[in-house]
Amino acid sequence: MPIDAELIRIGRRFDARGWVLGTSGNFSAVLGRDPLRLAITRSGTHKGELTPADILEYSGGRVVRGEGSASAETALHVEIVAARGAGSVLHTHSIWSTLLSHRYAEDGGLAIHGYEMLKGLSGVTTHEHREWLPILENDQDMTRLAGVLQQVLAEHPSCHGFLLRRHGLYTWGATPAEAARHVEILEFLLESVARSKESASWRS
Ligand SMILES: [Zn+2]
Repeated sequence: MPIDAELIRIGRRFDARGWVLGTSGNFSAVLGRDPLRLAITRSGTHKGELTPADILEYSGGRVVRGEGSASAETALHVEIVAARGAGSVLHTHSIWSTLLSHRYAEDGGLAIHGYEMLKGLSGVTTHEHREWLPILENDQDMTRLAGVLQQVLAEHPSCHGFLLRRHGLYTWGATPAEAARHVEILEFLLESVARSKESASWRS
């Protein structure tokens, strides 16, 4: 499937789950690496209603194909691709990632352990895996935030994603399909962690 069509399809799926409401979230996929060429969603688009015109090509710090500006968070996508060799980066704004990113912000991250669904993350073979999801303070200055992200990714070389405080989830994969799987797995895990905190009070 062409990359444009794949990102459009992912947008519809994520919209159906309520992970990209309003014009939130952004998606990218690597088209070429030397120099880096990125297919990325246009700023201000609803991800459930993307058309091929909403997928821009970005290279060398600017849009080289398509009309409009690339997502405001393009710098983060570029940083992740550089640090992880990712082929696709996906970003969502779910309720659960928003709530947990605030709840655990003071700890600098959130540990997820003991869930079978962890095995859906690339390279993870057991539910005993401990996934550390770093939490970064939200920031409207994308250059500064990309600098913080570079450090965090270096400090946590095996993390599969991270949260921005009261903002949302970023994850990635070798392909758009793998990145989409990681969103589904991490969103499932975040909802499970959050709901288990609620249900702890059911027992008392
Ligand atoms: Zn965002």
